[in-house]
Amino acid sequence: KYKSYPYEHMQKIREQNISPSLRMYYKKPLLLHQGHMQWLFDYEGRRYLDLFAGIVTVSVGHCHPKVTVAAQKQLARLWHTTNIYMHPSIHEYAEKLTSFLPDPLKVVYLTNSGSEANDLAMFMARLYTRNFDIISLRGAYHGGSPYTLGLTSVGLYKHSVANGFGCSTTMLPDVFRGPWGGSHCRDSPVQTVRKCSCSEGWLFTNTFSNLQLTDCIMCVCHANDQYIEQFKDTLNTSVPKTIAGFIAEPIQGVNGAVQYPRNFLKEAYQLVRERGGICISDEVQTGFGRTGSHFWGFETHGVVPDIVTLAKGIGNGFPMAAVVTTKDIASSLAQNLHFNTFGGSPLACVVGAAVLDAIEEDGLQKNSEEVGTYMLLELAKLRDKFEVVGDVRGKGLMIGVEMVTDKDSRHPLPGEEINQIWEDCKDMGVLIGRGGLYSQTFRIKPPMCINKKDVDFTVEVLNTALQKHMERAAAK
Ligand code: PMP
Repeated sequence: KYKSYPYEHMQKIREQNISPSLRMYYKKPLLLHQGHMQWLFDYEGRRYLDLFAGIVTVSVGHCHPKVTVAAQKQLARLWHTTNIYMHPSIHEYAEKLTSFLPDPLKVVYLTNSGSEANDLAMFMARLYTRNFDIISLRGAYHGGSPYTLGLTSVGLYKHSVANGFGCSTTMLPDVFRGPWGGSHCRDSPVQTVRKCSCSEGWLFTNTFSNLQLTDCIMCVCHANDQYIEQFKDTLNTSVPKTIAGFIAEPIQGVNGAVQYPRNFLKEAYQLVRERGGICISDEVQTGFGRTGSHFWGFETHGVVPDIVTLAKGIGNGFPMAAVVTTKDIASSLAQNLHFNTFGGSPLACVVGAAVLDAIEEDGLQKNSEEVGTYMLLELAKLRDKFEVVGDVRGKGLMIGVEMVTDKDSRHPLPGEEINQIWEDCKDMGVLIGRGGLYSQTFRIKPPMCINKKDVDFTVEVLNTALQKHMERAAAK
């Protein structure tokens, strides 16, 4: 039985008492009541397939029974130790979490949010290297705290206050929207049909899929080199000779699942290390098996960072986060006290451990790979059918569908047109995220427990919404 809540009353409270800088999704935001695995239920009893997982946070499923029971048991026993006494949970969790990470990433700091984790990573990079400058990629979101706001490079989240001392951004190696390359450069099961923007015009026939690509051979060979040249340019022009570090996500999340050309991160890491800097992988969205082929996003690039930051999926919705680094880097912070009241509470640690167990027991990394690849290939059929679907990309269950006016110009589809497609999907029971500088990309990052039937349903709903869009466009 659903207790009925007056929607208007909730809206009034929101207007008067809740942060006005939060932006709700949809013309009429959902008033939610309950979640179960990949499903959400509103107060009118409507069921939605949640393809955005509370912004990529619900990793193993809403109210996953294993995680819920672990939390309930701990709630009745002990919540908090203020980090001045020992409790087995933090030791067991640190051991378990680091068993998923390669050497030398073995020392864990527990925090409460992704911004806090990235704050700490920046702090450590500066303390350890005795340098100050940190580089991030344009289009990145690494947090909303005053410190991390300097790394975040999405206008929507910036505010007119002094921020970003010692933070520089560098060109985003975006092979869809950027000037060089094509999707053959990136690590994804789907390829894009697109025209090359370079004047050479040599056609390239892709031999590893049945699609005929129209990227010219110059771009095929040189996209990564061109982006690395831009990276070097930033190193030579925007920062001193030695730097504190470089932070990047393995696949950009907020910006709409943007993937870089193969080898970009590998070469960028090398350049950063040559300048005395350390490399930070923000795994807030890409971690915990979401990319399918690997447990961590950085592994898909063949690199080992010096610091990884974890949040969101780490607690399946429970507010917790972590920084994992090397013994050496951790020692730089040990010279004085560094304290966090709530980080590593028994409650957070048992939840974190249960999430790791659920990922393993439910085979969620493998599921991400299988169901994610199936979803990518099915969505690619929509891309081939509809002119406005410019790009389908991603890996595992970290997927972006970029909407354009047409495939040649790749101009972002105007906001009101995307909004309508998105609202239609919601009305048919599918919740999708939005991202990109123009909010032009649908973000599909569901709880990792979804199955192929959910994919079929999603593709049918998107197909119907796109069909309706075409009819509206034709009637104009
Ligand atoms: N890094 C990335 C990649 C994120 O997507 C986010 C949140 N969107 C953050 C950091 C910040 O996390 P939080 O909101 O928990 O502070």
